[in-house]
Amino acid sequence: MKVLIAEMIQEVSTFNPAVCDTSAFDFHEGQDVLDYYRHRPLEVGGALSVFEAEGFEVVGAFAARAKTSNGLLTAEAWNEVSSRFLNAIRNAPPVDGVYFAMHGAMGAENELDPEGYLLQEARKILGDDMPITLSLDLHGIVTDRMLQAVNAVTMYQTYPHCDMYETGARGAKLLVGLLKEGTKPVIAMVRIPALVRGDEMITETGLIGHRIRESQAFEETEGGLAAGMFWGNPFTDVPDLCSNSVVVTDGDPERAADLAVDLALKFWEDRATMQVPLVSLDDAVAIAKANEEGTVVMVDAADATSSGASGDSNAILRALVEGGYEGSGLFPVVDAPAAHAAAEAGIGATIEVTVGGTLDPARFTPLPVTARVKMLSDGAFINESWGTIWEGGLSAVLEVGKHVVIVTSQPVHLFDRSLFLAHGQDPQRFDVVVQKSPHCQPQFFRDWAAKLVDVDAPGSTSANLPYLGHTICRRPMFPMERDTQFEPEVLIFQRG
Ligand SMILES: [Zn+2]
Repeated sequence: MKVLIAEMIQEVSTFNPAVCDTSAFDFHEGQDVLDYYRHRPLEVGGALSVFEAEGFEVVGAFAARAKTSNGLLTAEAWNEVSSRFLNAIRNAPPVDGVYFAMHGAMGAENELDPEGYLLQEARKILGDDMPITLSLDLHGIVTDRMLQAVNAVTMYQTYPHCDMYETGARGAKLLVGLLKEGTKPVIAMVRIPALVRGDEMITETGLIGHRIRESQAFEETEGGLAAGMFWGNPFTDVPDLCSNSVVVTDGDPERAADLAVDLALKFWEDRATMQVPLVSLDDAVAIAKANEEGTVVMVDAADATSSGASGDSNAILRALVEGGYEGSGLFPVVDAPAAHAAAEAGIGATIEVTVGGTLDPARFTPLPVTARVKMLSDGAFINESWGTIWEGGLSAVLEVGKHVVIVTSQPVHLFDRSLFLAHGQDPQRFDVVVQKSPHCQPQFFRDWAAKLVDVDAPGSTSANLPYLGHTICRRPMFPMERDTQFEPEVLIFQRG
C-alpha cells in the first residue's frame, strides 16, 4: 500500500486587522515533509508512525504550517499556498489513500472556507474512489464542503492541545481501516449555535471533559471510528462559525446520529457555564498590588497570538503604569519599530520609544516609555513545547524601570515560556507576568503562579465574545443572543 500525506495548518482571527502573507508559514515539500515531522510531536509524525508500522510506503506531498496564528491571509498569499498544495497533490505518484492534517480555522481575504476548498479540489484531483481521511483541531470550523470531500474525520481530544501526534495517528488508523479492513465510514454532524471559552474547556478538568471521555469510550467500541466536539475558534468570523459534534461509525448512520445529538444537547446545556468570568483592568491592578508573595500571572487571552491576535497589546502594562503599581512585570509585545529603535541604539543605550499599538491601533494606543536596551536578538529560538523553531524576528529586551518588556518584530506563540527563557527572563522572578494565551500546560505558569487572573483587556481574541462584534457567522448565536434556541438537526455524510 502506498499513501500520501499533506498538511495545511493555520488559525486566524478575522478581528485582527494585521493581515498575513506566505511568510507566516513554514513549508516542506516531498520527502522533506516526512523527514521534518518524523520525530516531532505533531500530526504528520503520528500518522507516519502508524503507516510505517503497517509497512505502507509513504509519500510526502506538501506541508504548510503557520509559525503562529494570524490575521486573515491576503488573497495573493492564499492563491499561492492553495496552488502549491493542490499542485503537490496533482504531481504526486499514484497512491491507494490520502491523509490530510488540517486545522479548520483558516481564513483568507478571498476564501472563508479554505480547508473546504482544498479538500473539494483535492477530491476532484484524486477521484471519487480515493480513500481520504482528515484530522482537525477541535477549534476548527467544520463545513459541509469539508465533510463531503472526505471519507472520515478525527479531531484533537485535548485542550490545551497535547495530542497532535495521537490525532495524526488516529487519522492514519482511519485510513488503514478503509484500506485493509474495508470500513464504510458514516459521518454525523450537528451544528450548535453557541460559542464558548474558558476553564471549562480544559479537557482534563473542565465540563467539556465529560463529552471528550464519552467520545473516547465510543471509539473503544466495535464500529465506533471517531467522535468528538468542535467549538470553533470564536475569533474566526466566517459563515459556518459555531460549535459542532461529529461522530463517525462504520456503516451505521443511526448510531452516529444518536451520539452526535446526545453530545450536542449536553454541550448546549453547559453553554452558559462554558464562558469566562473576566476581571476588569482596574481590578487586575488592585489584585497585583494586594499580592504579597509570588507571581501574579495576568492572562491576556484577548491578545493571544496563538488564537490569531496581533500581539501588540500594551493594555495591562499601561494599566499597571498608570495605576502606580510598584512591583516588577514581564511583558511580551509585538512592536517592530521599537525593536529596530533598540537595535539602532545598541545594547546598554537608553532610548525614548513607544511600546505597543503598532498593528491594532484602534484597540491599543502606543505607550511612551524610557527604556534601557538590555539585550538584542534575531528572535529565533527552539520552543519548549514542540522542539521546533519559532521566529519573532529582530527582538529586544527593554528595561522600563522595574519592568522588562520583550519586543518582537513578529508574533510568536506565547502558550509556553519559550520567548521569556530564550531572552534570559525567568517569569518566576517577576511580581507580574502577562501570559498572552488563554491556557497553557499547567507546568508553564499555573503550577507555580500565586494567582492567575483572567483580565478583560481589549484585543482581537477577547473571551468577552459579545465585545468582538461578529458580523458574518449565523445568528442568533449564544452568548451574543442569550435567548438563542436550539433544536438539533443531524447532517449525514457518507461516500460511495
Ligand atoms: Zn486549537
